[in-house]
Amino acid sequence: MSEVVDLTRELVGARTVNPPGDEAPVAARVGQRLEAAGLDVRVHPFGPGRASLVARLPGRGDAPALCLTGHLDTVPFGDAAWAHHPLAGETDGDRLFGRGTSDMKGGVAAIVVAAERVAALSRGAAGLEVVLCAGEETGCDGARALAEAGVLGRAGAVLVAEPTANRVCVAHKGVAWLDARTSGRSAHGSRPDLGSNAIQALAHAVVALESFAFDVPAHPLLGAPTLNVGTIAGGANINSVPDRAVAGIDVRTIPGLTSDDVLAALRRRLGAGVALEPRLSLPPVTTDASDPWVADVRAAMDAPDAPGGVAYFTDAAALTPAFGGPPTVICGPGDPEQAHATDESCSLARLEAAAEGFFAIARRWCGV
Ligand SMILES: [Zn+2]
Repeated sequence: MSEVVDLTRELVGARTVNPPGDEAPVAARVGQRLEAAGLDVRVHPFGPGRASLVARLPGRGDAPALCLTGHLDTVPFGDAAWAHHPLAGETDGDRLFGRGTSDMKGGVAAIVVAAERVAALSRGAAGLEVVLCAGEETGCDGARALAEAGVLGRAGAVLVAEPTANRVCVAHKGVAWLDARTSGRSAHGSRPDLGSNAIQALAHAVVALESFAFDVPAHPLLGAPTLNVGTIAGGANINSVPDRAVAGIDVRTIPGLTSDDVLAALRRRLGAGVALEPRLSLPPVTTDASDPWVADVRAAMDAPDAPGGVAYFTDAAALTPAFGGPPTVICGPGDPEQAHATDESCSLARLEAAAEGFFAIARRWCGV
C-alpha cells in the first residue's frame, strides 16, 4: 500500500474518540515524522492526554506560509454494530474502513505526506505551517486554544482537509449552540395540579421551533441557516412533576446571521418562559471564489467543478481569523456523507489524489 494509505491506517488505529480525545500519542507520532523530515515541531498540550501540533517549514524569506490544517480527534463509534472494526483499517476494493477515515485522518495523512515531500526539496521562498488540532469535534476547542495562546505563525492561505471528496469548497457555515431551559414547580406525580411541568413547557418550545425559519436571505453557496434540536433532558423521576428541563439547540449560520441575531430571533419566538444560554459561537468562513489561489488549488486538485460550500464548520472558524483572514479552501479526500457514519470509509484513490494534489499546492505556494 502507498504511504498515505499506510499512514491513514496507522492514524485510524490510534483511538482519538472525543470525548475524551486522547490526541497526545498521535500528535507525538506525527510530530516525530515531521521533525525527521526537517520541520520545526511544537506540540501544544491541551489537557490530560491531549495535544495539538504546529509544525513549521520555514521559507527563505518572510513571505507568509501556507497553512495546511486538520483535526486529530474523531466522534465516538456510535451504538450500532460495525461490519468492519472501527480501529482496524480494513480495506475492501477502493474503500478503507474505520472511524476517522473520512473525517478526517485521511486528510491529515495527506497533509503529512505532502509536507514531508516538500521538506525534502530545496528551501522555497515561502514555507508551510502544518496545524493539527485536538478537540475539533466538540467545537474547535484545540484550534481556539492555539489561536488564543498566540502560537500560530503567519499564513497567507489556509487549506482545511475536511471531507469534500476532493471537491474545492470556498465557504463553510458558522455555528451557534444554545441551551434552552424551562423551569417549573415540583410536586408529587399524583398531584400535577399542584405543580408546574417544565418538560411540557419545553415540549411546546421544541414544537414551536419545528417550523421556525430565520429571516435572512440564503447564501449562494451555503443555502439557508438550519436549526436542529440535538438533545433534550429533564425530570428526576417518573413520579414527580419536573421542575427543570433543557434542550440543546444547534443552529448553523451563514453570512448575514450572527450568533447575536440567532439569540434575538429565538428569544422573540420562544418568549420569556424559555431561558436561552449561548454555549458556542463560531463564524462562517467564506473566500472569494475568484481569488487566484483558489484557481491554483482547483488546478492542482484537477477539480473542474465550480467551487462549492459545506454545511459543517471547521477549525478555519478559529484559525482563519487568527491569521488575519487569508483565503481559505476546504478540500479533503473523505466523503462528507461518511463523516460520523457507522462503517465510515474513504476512497483509496481519493487519498492518493489528495496527497498528490496537496503536494502540488504546497510546491506552488513555496516556489519549489
Ligand atoms: Zn471533521
